[in-house]
Amino acid sequence: MGRCSTGRWHVAFLAGCLTLTFCSQESGNGTLDTFIGPTMGTRYTVKISNLPTGVGREGLQADIERILKGIDGRMSTYKRDSELSRFNKQRSTDWFDVSSKTVFVIDEALRVSRLTDGAFDITVGPVVDLWGFGPTPREEVIPSDEAIRKAMQRVGYTHIDTREFPPAIRKDRGDVEIDLSAIAKGYAVDQIGEHLESVGVSNYLVEIGGELRAKGQKEPATSWKIGIEKPVSSGRVIQRVASLEDQAMATSGDYRNFFERHGERFSHTINPRTGRPVTHTLASVTVISLSSMHADAMATALMVLGPEGGYEVAERENLAALFIVRSSDSFRERVTPVMEEVLINTLSSPVEG
Ligand code: FAD
Repeated sequence: MGRCSTGRWHVAFLAGCLTLTFCSQESGNGTLDTFIGPTMGTRYTVKISNLPTGVGREGLQADIERILKGIDGRMSTYKRDSELSRFNKQRSTDWFDVSSKTVFVIDEALRVSRLTDGAFDITVGPVVDLWGFGPTPREEVIPSDEAIRKAMQRVGYTHIDTREFPPAIRKDRGDVEIDLSAIAKGYAVDQIGEHLESVGVSNYLVEIGGELRAKGQKEPATSWKIGIEKPVSSGRVIQRVASLEDQAMATSGDYRNFFERHGERFSHTINPRTGRPVTHTLASVTVISLSSMHADAMATALMVLGPEGGYEVAERENLAALFIVRSSDSFRERVTPVMEEVLINTLSSPVEG
């Protein structure tokens, strides 16, 4: 965690190695308030430019924590007693009552599955676990073809059905499970953004583990500038900078969560058609959209579809997307026309993220 060069740090409490903090900092023509804390196996950062009078910092951070705790309690597969974990554990094919928020996220996930011909699939969890990328710690081993075939019998988004009134979900096979890891962080970012707007905050940046949403400006006449990483596992190098105003951004890649065997890289993005980590040359995809939830899910889907198939879908959906593709000893980019409009080439001001 960085430190403010000017301003005050307030330490609210200590949680493991991550500290829940907020800080106020002079920034150009106003103040920038930053709130940081642990969540969902990663951390959140919220930056607010010119906090409205009457909105207290402690209260706001408590609101953020409450929203995140609520989502974690409903949608985590890392918490044994979450709504989703309880659904996953039970073998009944009857309707299972959940919150309307969980139904909302699952409905969006199923919509993205249909949009991408099943490249995005929230039932892929058993295969994710098999490859050692899920909540159950495992050795980094390549599973047998038989184990993959068996796990794949439980995969398929069409096994899931949702109901709005009263909110509930069901599966048509008792052993099917739901994993919202590729969409719920984006949803959480949107929820925090909407809460900030509801209390009158109109200039903010919310980020959770790389998924983010920006509203308004960082300073008058200065939009939020976001660094897009070069997809390398050693250190953090910025490849491109996006200028965001009232937009959300998400990145999926094969360069942070992976293992290597015999010179081959196995990453946590699973192709639901093969039950194996994706094998193409696409190293990362960054998507910009109005909703962070949509950007989060689409980034994973495009990562599955690869540099050609993914680009075609992004173009068809008029999506802003940057594909960074590995080629022998460097990277090449494929940028959709809508993405060109938000990328900037100069680093004239500091970047976030
Ligand atoms: P993304 O690209 O956004 O998502 C990749 C993940 O999506 C994979 O790891 C896999 O789970 C899933 N996936 C893979 N292929 C597909 C596919 N084809 N379609 C759909 N999904 C796919 N991690 C912890 O270590 N501890 C925690 O306590 C913890 N709690 C969490 C609570 C919640 C509510 C959520 C949403 C996540 C939590 N995580 C936790 C997971 C952690 O934050 C992630 O590693 C993460 O969500 C994956 O995000 P990403 O940005 O790395 O990758």
